[in-house]
Amino acid sequence: MTEQPRFLADAMLARLARWLRVLNFDTRHDPSIHDPELVQMADREDRWLLTRDRALVKELRPSKAVLITRDDPLRQLTEVVEQCELDKPERLFLRCLVCNTPLREATDREIRDRLPPSAENYPDTRLYCPHCQRLYWPGSHTQRMTRTLARALPDWFDR
Ligand SMILES: [Zn+2]
Repeated sequence: MTEQPRFLADAMLARLARWLRVLNFDTRHDPSIHDPELVQMADREDRWLLTRDRALVKELRPSKAVLITRDDPLRQLTEVVEQCELDKPERLFLRCLVCNTPLREATDREIRDRLPPSAENYPDTRLYCPHCQRLYWPGSHTQRMTRTLARALPDWFDR
């Protein structure tokens, strides 16, 4: 398997970062980081810098950058998919949408402590973020997000 591209999203692009995490791409996003540091971090960690700031790209010259031009997060996602030539991941929702940590299977205790009763109809594996202690499970919210993705990236989902 080839190594997956990684990303660093600038302060304006929180929702884009979330969508990239849905697709399992390692995507850092920290609005407190200032421009020069952002570029250094992207270069040091070999990440694509995702930014809406044309001047930043021109003046600070990150080695890999995607200049985002659209306003809608899903259209922004399409820009990244096209420019970085991303392939569709085999599975979705394997990374914490909030903190970017890879999820692991939840233990029985974690499920007992955190699963709301409405989620018990879904027998699939529950995943857990060891960093921020969130529990994730497939349900109507993931189905809705998957449908939204399919509309944004029809080439990926039609086959
Ligand atoms: Zn987390």
